[in-house]
Amino acid sequence: MSDLREIAEKLIVEHTLSREEWQRLLEHRDREITERIRSAARRETDRIFGRQVFVRGLIEFTNICKKDCYYCGIRKSNSCVERYRLTEEEILSCCKDGYEAGLRTFVLQGGEDGYFTEERICSLVSEIHTKYQDCAITLSVGEWKRESYERFFSAGAERFLLRQETANAEHYGKLHPANQPYETRMECLRNLKDIGYQTGCGFLVGSPYQTTDCIIEDLLFLERFRPQMVGIGPFLPAKNTPFEAKKAGSSELTLFLLSAIRLSLPEVLLPATTALGTARSDGRLQGLLHGANVIMPNLSPTRVRDKYALYDNKVHSGNEAAEHLEALRKELEKEEFTVAISRGDSPGFAK
Ligand code: SAH
Ligand code: SF4
Repeated sequence: MSDLREIAEKLIVEHTLSREEWQRLLEHRDREITERIRSAARRETDRIFGRQVFVRGLIEFTNICKKDCYYCGIRKSNSCVERYRLTEEEILSCCKDGYEAGLRTFVLQGGEDGYFTEERICSLVSEIHTKYQDCAITLSVGEWKRESYERFFSAGAERFLLRQETANAEHYGKLHPANQPYETRMECLRNLKDIGYQTGCGFLVGSPYQTTDCIIEDLLFLERFRPQMVGIGPFLPAKNTPFEAKKAGSSELTLFLLSAIRLSLPEVLLPATTALGTARSDGRLQGLLHGANVIMPNLSPTRVRDKYALYDNKVHSGNEAAEHLEALRKELEKEEFTVAISRGDSPGFAK
């Protein structure tokens, strides 16, 4: 027991643990240790970012995808999905609404949709970049060759989100078909970081076949890779996928891992994700109380929100941007958080 407490103190003070220490902590933590880590993680977040929460406007611009990840509701083989793709005008209109509501970061996320070629993505990014020069553009559009990532970067995208999903190669193979190799994902991540993107990675918590060892590998990977952002959320089953009958990941474990990641990488940008907000109604607020400091309100037009169903019962407020942000601001104020109107860069990339 005291051994466990020493491990927790080491994480809090030294920001690093060995494989064996992570294992002891994950397998034997009790409520007291869990709370000790949560409060230390929140304190660390306050020290670096204060009570400010960064907000990013999420634009889910297409649910068409040529990939076939077993866990994902919009995978290619799911013929029950009603597919959509926003036009460039619609995407720009989302940015306009978001800008007027006070957002200064736009996240363009979507399936790997062949319509959106390198040229089309570049022209979209450069149009947004020209119109909203005080905003940051984040892309979350999957795997591309290095040259494409370089062109997106030159067009004005400064940040990229690409979760590794699991850092364990064998586990990765159980979540994806053989033509989506683990090595490609890892190479993409290395290229993004090397090009100079503020890079976000992350993993699914409680995905099928995940073991404690897999989670430890993810934590050790994060420590080595040193991303600027980390997105984690519980795996939630999606109907008409190979994993539709699998058990959902634990939100309690997700919250613990948010605290653990905050302590391991104190300056990292850490969103309280929609999946966490779907798994439990107070998920996003709890995420912040466990060391998250980013929230990504949905800017997609309300008519398409149900169609971007990565998993079942995905929450969305149904509100337009301004209304939604106002409600969020009020909710966060109750816990003495403030919503920052700023780009919210990673500390090492401050503009
Ligand atoms: N196509 C891009 C971006 C869209 S998917 C990509 O794959 O990178 C964004 C994230 O949604 C994925 O990285 C994955 O971690 C998450 N996701 C997909 N299906 C999910 C599910 N069933 N439960 C929880 N998260 C899921
Ligand atoms: Fe496509 Fe991303 Fe879903 Fe995989 S997780 S099927 S790449 S949208």
